[in-house]
Amino acid sequence: MTTTDPTPTAHLVGLGYAESSLGEVEAAGFSVSPTPDGDGLAVRGTCPRCGGPTATTYRYGMPGLGTKGLRSWFAGARTRPAEAADPLRSEAHFCECGHAHPGMPAEAVFIGCGADWRIRSAP
Ligand SMILES: [Zn+2]
Ligand SMILES: [Zn+2]
Repeated sequence: MTTTDPTPTAHLVGLGYAESSLGEVEAAGFSVSPTPDGDGLAVRGTCPRCGGPTATTYRYGMPGLGTKGLRSWFAGARTRPAEAADPLRSEAHFCECGHAHPGMPAEAVFIGCGADWRIRSAP
């Protein structure tokens, strides 16, 4: 392998699942970019808890992902256009590293270690 590893932190795949709020973390390491199909924004970064790569997509016109539970997306009458917001700092982020950490409940909405965090606002 000659490619540079973009994730210097090892992914702690053996870490037990736990719903834990990590509070605010530094924005360093997180990025926002338009999705390839152009109808949303993708927030990418490294989970501060398990160290796994996580990516969350925010669709324009869809309510934010600030609450756990997909049901509210469809039940909600109000929508908040993503282009008017900064999803990196306005939304809570949940670990979506894609690895089912040990003990993860079957009903978990996000496949990951259960951590959630917010990005610290720029000073
Ligand atoms: Zn995680
Ligand atoms: Zn993980």
